[in-house]
Formats: sequence, structure tokens, C-alpha cells
Amino acid sequence: MATSTAAPYSDLIIGAAPPNRRRDMIDVRDPSTGKVLHSVPDGTVEDGLAAVAAAAAAFGPWRATSARERAEILRRCWELMVARRDEIAALISAENGKTLADARAEADYAAEFFRWYAEEAVRAAGHLGTSPGGTNNILVSYQPIGVAVLVTPWNFPAAMATRKIAPALAAGCAVVLKPAAETPLTSYLIARLCKEAGVPDGVINVVTTSGSGPVVRAMLHDDRVRALSFTGSTEVGRVLLREAADTVLKSSMELGGNAPFIVLDDADPDDAVEGLMVAKMRNGGQACTAANRVYVHRSLVEEVSGRLADRFARLVVGPGTDPATECGPLINPRAVAKVAALVESAVAAGARVLTGGERPDREGAFYAPTVLVDVPAHADIVREEIFGPVASIIAFDTDDEVVRAANDTHLGLAAYVYTSDLRRGLRMADELEAGMVAVNRGLVSDPAAPFGGVKQSGLGREGGAEGMREFMESKYIATSW
Ligand code: NAP
Ligand code: MG
Repeated sequence: MATSTAAPYSDLIIGAAPPNRRRDMIDVRDPSTGKVLHSVPDGTVEDGLAAVAAAAAAFGPWRATSARERAEILRRCWELMVARRDEIAALISAENGKTLADARAEADYAAEFFRWYAEEAVRAAGHLGTSPGGTNNILVSYQPIGVAVLVTPWNFPAAMATRKIAPALAAGCAVVLKPAAETPLTSYLIARLCKEAGVPDGVINVVTTSGSGPVVRAMLHDDRVRALSFTGSTEVGRVLLREAADTVLKSSMELGGNAPFIVLDDADPDDAVEGLMVAKMRNGGQACTAANRVYVHRSLVEEVSGRLADRFARLVVGPGTDPATECGPLINPRAVAKVAALVESAVAAGARVLTGGERPDREGAFYAPTVLVDVPAHADIVREEIFGPVASIIAFDTDDEVVRAANDTHLGLAAYVYTSDLRRGLRMADELEAGMVAVNRGLVSDPAAPFGGVKQSGLGREGGAEGMREFMESKYIATSW
């Protein structure tokens, strides 16, 4: 039941009914209590197509602006996000549940995409060459691809949106953003800030809906749409790639991960535990880059797992919006049930619980920070994305053995290696089948670096110079003079 007032930002939806007309609404809930925070319009297929029409109309004038003009607007988007960081963080924390510290870090990370792409917008130079036979010149320039549909998940409601919006706008594209139904408020706030920063009407459109399937399908089948950029699960990514085939859409896919976190025998255990706290517990474990399988050299298992269990047991669990909280709720009760089932089946298969392993006795979508050891390699918890505050520790003996185990998955987003021998770490980084490897760090994400996966973790890259290419096409002109 929608008992609250409409979201203050929902005027940005395209095709939204005027306030005096009743329309269906989606409730947005606080995951730490289950209570309704706000409700937002439940967009229909017609709303989605109206958003595409608005983007198509805005695209021509937007691509005609100078790169410098777009850069200045993007820079103002960054400035406004920085100035209003605490407001953005509070909203992220309220609807997603993550701690205020994580939400502030996300707001900063999200804002940085605008600064980075403000700088990239003016550097999208093409190139000039001569054909090897000397018959003609080769002129190559990059042109914006057109209207892009952006579909984002709930786990980083700000950053997953800006990681797509900023490069798309820098390239000269107009976009329709379809955020996750759990976290639409942050998207509306970002779109509002962009408007304040000078982004013209129609260049960014937000459509919230409880009918993602039909609404996105209709948009992808509309000839005016030229690109799809999706972040979410591999399962939904496969569905959307099939949809995109019908209109041969350029598709970028940032999908699921199953990151190995490898602690070699020469690693500093303190550093490794510190890195693991970040790689595992950022956003309560709900990150595509989260350490999902922790491989520790047999000689260090006792020390690393003991220290980690100490740290986990001391984490303050509570609502993300409480400044004392160090581990917030999961996104919804379904996510808790999934994590609980994975832990139970791991324990049934022989894993031991060092700490946690249960739902805390409180309302809301909570699961206790959990450390498991002796986790068998065939357990579901090793093969599936946990997406929760559970570290599964697996002992190994040799480098070759751990690389083989780490690569034994159809996913390949992030991987982590801890060692005091950088050469050994870099060699292992080469051998790991992952789009991103962190050596002696618990965090890989950086707006200036190409983020993305290999195998079924995705197609294309976001961030860095690469991120803008996803929204551009090469135009080659042959000429002689
Ligand atoms: P999800 O269920 O795949 O949903 C992602 C988005 O797709 C949401 O906006 C969702 O809308 C929409 N969607 C769902 N079904 C759809 C359909 N049939 N057609 C069109 N759109 C559809 O993923 P999630 O649960 O939100 O997020 C968690 C997943 O995202 C994890 O697997 C995680 O690894 C991955 N992720 C990857 C990255 C990366 O960069 N590689 C980053 C963050 C997260 P609704 O909300 O309406 O379902
Ligand atoms: Mg979902």
C-alpha cells in the first residue's frame, strides 16, 4: 500500500500523470524497517516510449553543442553533487540501507564520473592516417551513437547511474535511465541536479516502473534507440542481449561477479585482513566486485580467519542511516533468505562457522556478518554470488592450484591478490581470468580506469577513456588530396 507522499523528485518522469490524476505508484521501502519511505510513479510502456521520444528530440540539439559546452555542464554536475553530497548520501542510505560512510563514498565516486568525463569530453579526438598503398587518406572521427537506454541496479544507485550518464552526455548522447525499482529516489535526485547544472530538458529522462521487462523491451525495439548500457545480474543481461539482437543495438553489459580474494603465503596478514574488510564488506557485501571466495594459503588460514572473525564479530549492525552503524541491512528479505540458504548448505557440506551464521534478532532485512572456514570447493556459496556479509575461507597449498580454482567459474569481473612479492603478484594478476585485478588493495573501482569483466561478467568497459567509446561510433572518411 502506498501510504506516503509521492517522491519529491518524481516530476522528472516522462509521461507522468499530472498530480490530480491517480496513477499506479511503486513503494520505496527502508530495508532496515520495511516501512514505506516514498512512492514513485509506476511507468508504463507508453511512459517508456514517451521518454525515448523526448530523448530523440533532445539528441539533435545536444550533439550540436560544442564539446566545451558539454564539458562545462558536466563540470557543474560534479560541483553540485559535491556541494550536496550529504543530501545524496542520506537518500542512498535511506533507500538502499548502506551505511552513511559507504553512502558518502558512493556519492563522491558517483560525482567523480562527471568531473572525469568533463575532462574527457574535449579530448575525443579522431585520427588521420594514410592507406599503406598511398592511394588515399584515412580520416577517422568519433560521433555520438544516439539515444541510449541505461538500466541500473539497486546496489550503487548513484554511481551506476553516473558511470553511464556522464560518458553518454560527454559523447553527445541523450539517455533514458531505468533505475532499479528498489532505489529510484537517488536517480531522480541526480537527474534533478543535472537539470540544475544546465543539462537541457529531454537529454536525461528517468522512467521508474514495476514492469521492467515489458517497458525495457519496448524501448529496445524502438528504432530511435541506438545503444543499451546495462548493469545488473548475468541472468537479466542475457535476456537483454537477446532483446538487443532484434534491433542490433550496441550493448554494454556490466554483469555479475564471483571475485576470488587470494592471500599468498608471503602476504602480510594485517594488510590482507584490512583489504578483505573493504573487498568483502563494502556495501555489506552487496557489490559485484565483492570478494566472494577467500583463498588463504594453508599456513595463514588460522591467523587470517581468526582476525577476520574478530573484526566481523565487533561490527555494529543496524540501519544504514544511524551514524554508528558499520554493517547495514541487505536490500530486502528475499536477499536475506538467499544468503541464509547459502550459509546453511555450506555448513551442511562441512563448513564451520567462526562468527555469525544467523539472522540477528531484530526487524528488517539483516544478516549477521559471518566468517566460514573449511568451505568445500563444490559448495554453492563458492559458485554463486553471495551478495551479503559472508566471507567463505578456503585453504590452498600452491600458486598453480589457487589460480586454477580461481579461474574455475564462468564469471570474471574482479580478483584480489595479497603478497609481499610484487613480481609474484603481477604474474598471478596476468594469469587470473578477470577484467580487473587488485594487487595488495581491497578496492579496484576508479572513475579513471576501465571497469568491466571477462567471460560472462560482461561486455565493454565503463570509466576511463574506454567508457566514452561505448557511446560513440567511428566514422571513417576516405579521401585523397
Ligand atoms: P538485476 O535483477 O539484474 O536488475 C538490474 C536492473 O535490471 C534493474 O533495474 C532491474 O529492474 C532490471 N531488470 C530486471 N529484469 C529485467 C528484464 N527482464 N528486462 C529489463 N530490465 C530488467 O540485478 P540487481 O539485483 O538489481 O543487482 C545485482 C546484480 O547486479 C548482481 O549480480 C551484481 O553483481 C550486478 N552488478 C554488476 C555490476 C558491474 O558493474 N558488473 C555493478 C553492480 C551490480 P527491477 O528493479 O525492476 O527488477
Ligand atoms: Mg531486481
